[in-house]
Amino acid sequence: MSFLHRLSFKAKLLILTFFILISLAIIAGVGFQNIQSMKERLDRLYFGALMPTTQLHTMLHLYRDRVEITLLRAPELPALHGISVALSEIKKNWHDYASSYKEPGERPFIDYTSGLIESSERAVLSLLESCGTSCSDASVHALLKILEPTQQALLDLIRYENDVARFERQKLLQSYDTTLFRFTVVMIGVMLMITFLSLLVFRSINRTQIALQQTTQQLKRSNKKLEEASYTDTLTTLYNRRYFNIIFERELARAKRTKSVIVFMMLDIDYFKQYNDTYGHLEGDNALKATALALKALLRRPGDYLFRLGGEEFGVLLVDTDAHNAKTVAAQILERIRALEIPHASSKVHDHLTVSVGVVYARAHEGLSGDQLMGEADKELYSAKEQGRNRFCLRQLS
Ligand code: GH3
Ligand code: MG
Ligand code: MG
Repeated sequence: MSFLHRLSFKAKLLILTFFILISLAIIAGVGFQNIQSMKERLDRLYFGALMPTTQLHTMLHLYRDRVEITLLRAPELPALHGISVALSEIKKNWHDYASSYKEPGERPFIDYTSGLIESSERAVLSLLESCGTSCSDASVHALLKILEPTQQALLDLIRYENDVARFERQKLLQSYDTTLFRFTVVMIGVMLMITFLSLLVFRSINRTQIALQQTTQQLKRSNKKLEEASYTDTLTTLYNRRYFNIIFERELARAKRTKSVIVFMMLDIDYFKQYNDTYGHLEGDNALKATALALKALLRRPGDYLFRLGGEEFGVLLVDTDAHNAKTVAAQILERIRALEIPHASSKVHDHLTVSVGVVYARAHEGLSGDQLMGEADKELYSAKEQGRNRFCLRQLS
């Protein structure tokens, strides 16, 4: 399923939604079809079997209770009129029954019964006509004999319709079971399919998410490296001039707020041009690295900042300190560089590499500017160089 993996998050969700909708449509289709067929079966059971049985029972009841009983108990004229009403009711019921849908195989018996009903009616009516005001026992009994086959035919039909009803009921129950079974199978199938697809899609989404997280992590690391590279000098790994500008402004503003002492030093390696000329540029680079490392090892306080300002010039910023410390640190710097004992044969001040330092310090106030600090430090450095190098010159700014 690697094709799924290549798709976008949105496409994966769309596929899942599409399959869920298709599944719902299948369930709805199957459900509709089965409910429809159940409806047809119910209809057939009710109108095809139960209703006809009721009609046949009514007819039988009319023959027995309204025709026969009247003839036997009250064969006088006023009562005999009820018989014609019963006969028309029988006719109407039979018409309803016979005109509803019947199977072709049922037709001959229906026609046969129709004939019986009609001849019975004719026989009853002719008897009533011939009776006058009252019917004789003999003629009544003769008529009842004529009515017997009709009632027997109705009984046969009732038995037949009952059998049909029983058969339809069985079919309905069967179709209900089949529907239930089909529906369960479709539901299980659809649920399994959706679960399987969801698993695939979610696994794929998960993979994409992990890949995204990894990329984000990588991006973060790269950004951090880039950021570091943007404010670090590659040769010495000290902060560069750009970062110095940021930190210098920030720390000066902070010192102004807390009214604390701020110290700034400018360092410059003595006779470095000659060093390069004597030992080569590569050795010059090594000397710069060694100087940077020594300064780093010395300036480790949280408020100490060290920068390579350019070429063989370094800047040192000390915050939250005092004048005494400024002097001590400057002296230590000179000592540490000398202690490296980097041979410098062409130096006019020492056998080893040395630095000169210009130091300024002040209790920060609103009027103090960064340019002022840098300018004055540069002047002090110049003085240190003038006075013979390998030393520091220090001045307090007001
Ligand atoms: P001074 O004692 O007055 O400071 O004399 P200097 O020779 O140190 O000063 P100058 O400004 O004349 O020379 C600085 C030299 O520093 C020139 C340049 O070749 C060298 N330099 C600057 N940047 C680098 C660097 O990255 N690597 C090396 N090897 N040398 C550098
Ligand atoms: Mg210089
Ligand atoms: Mg120099």
